[in-house]
Amino acid sequence: VASDVVHDKAVIISTGDELMTGQLQDSNARWLSERLVELGILTVEHIAVGDDSTDLFEAIHRAARRAPLVVMSGGLGPTDGDLTREELCRATGDTLVLDPGLRAELEARFAKRGRALTARQERQAYRPSKATALPNELGTAPGLAARLGVDSPWKWSQVFCLPGPPSELRPMFEREVVPRLSPPPGRVVLTRLLHVIGLAEADCVDRLGELTRRDRTPLVGITASGGILTIRIRYEGGGAGGDSAGEDARHKALRRVDETERTIRGILGDHVLPTDAQGRSGVECLSASILADLGERSRTLAVVESCTGGMLGEMITAIPGSSAAFRGGYITYSNDLKVNLGVDAGAIARLGAVSPEVASQMALRGLERSGAHFCLALTGIAGPDGGTAAKPVGTVHIGLASREIGAGASAAGARHFVFSGDREDVRRRACVSAMAMLHFALRGCPAGEPRLLWEAPS
Ligand code: ATP
Ligand code: MG
Repeated sequence: VASDVVHDKAVIISTGDELMTGQLQDSNARWLSERLVELGILTVEHIAVGDDSTDLFEAIHRAARRAPLVVMSGGLGPTDGDLTREELCRATGDTLVLDPGLRAELEARFAKRGRALTARQERQAYRPSKATALPNELGTAPGLAARLGVDSPWKWSQVFCLPGPPSELRPMFEREVVPRLSPPPGRVVLTRLLHVIGLAEADCVDRLGELTRRDRTPLVGITASGGILTIRIRYEGGGAGGDSAGEDARHKALRRVDETERTIRGILGDHVLPTDAQGRSGVECLSASILADLGERSRTLAVVESCTGGMLGEMITAIPGSSAAFRGGYITYSNDLKVNLGVDAGAIARLGAVSPEVASQMALRGLERSGAHFCLALTGIAGPDGGTAAKPVGTVHIGLASREIGAGASAAGARHFVFSGDREDVRRRACVSAMAMLHFALRGCPAGEPRLLWEAPS
């Protein structure tokens, strides 16, 4: 789509009854807004509508009057609730035609799975005659691109319709939409996220000092979630100038963001996680970081989980390539299984399963059984029941055993945490704290240092 219109503003339309009934969170609008702003395009409105012809038709018109760029998600599939194709057609005053190319692709896709194309599935091969179909490599419903004439200074708006599933929408946006956009030349918005562990938000702000001033460029903002802080570095600049100015502006923005990142890393040191790939969550960065640290040292890890029931193993194995450093683990939820692993039954009877001694033993036995170099073990009370005055809900002991402490002998220590929040919060925070313990140990911090969030005074 050759474009003489500058896409300075956008409206996002999310569709689906599930959004209206609260069954589905609109993550597409969030993701699209974020990507658009990175491209220098400001989203001025989010519209969400159910699967209703009139609502869709009106939403498309409203959006086109508001902005020269409209991005829609959902409603392209084969069900009766999928009305985007029809309403885009009606809004642009076009007619639906069967696209032979699309039909052939659909047929081939179904044939590969040994199935014939039904009339219902064939609906997805229809498109408004003047619209362009956008290939969908990961699903069956193709996207659509069309122009809609509007009574506005920009005369017509560019409308992109993308499939609802995020795994299809995101690659289609990158491959098919981005090359068709004309963001305002020279306008650059650059965002970089850094994840920080082992620091409270207020401590982090104190250490960063002047960097967090609201009038600084790039802007530095901090948010906290589940024991991990996220620092957002955001550069916004330009807006005028020719094409060459665009390249210069981008370089300048990149340099400024790099400088700010270096300064922050200088101040916070090992508290800042490496960011090999943007777009990863804090937990993913933490897992990836310990796996990379282990890999570099040719070391392996095992886990023994009680109150987290496998959640730590899940977080670690969510990272591709984790098998290089992660050996696996044991879910010893009951006392029996803890004893089975080799934990001393007497210690459990005397001190309780939720105790530093049992956490240390779990880590040590896991280390021996698995043959790994490091073993993390968690035992605690996730709640909502089971707390006592001495061991309130949220109490978790985390053991770390290692073959490297001392002269080749294995040793273990446990740290005591009292996490706040509900069952899910306690479990997630426990896993994050366990990984944080290993992170700092791998970076040569003395045992027990630095003190972590929610760690009980010893
Ligand atoms: P399909 O061919 O899968 O039916 P579609 O384009 O018709 O795709 P919808 O039927 O509207 O899309 O939604 C399909 C699924 O995509 C939803 O059940 C939901 O899981 C996901 N989805 C849809 N819209 C959103 C959204 N705004 N945010 C996050 N996920 C969404
Ligand atoms: Mg659908």
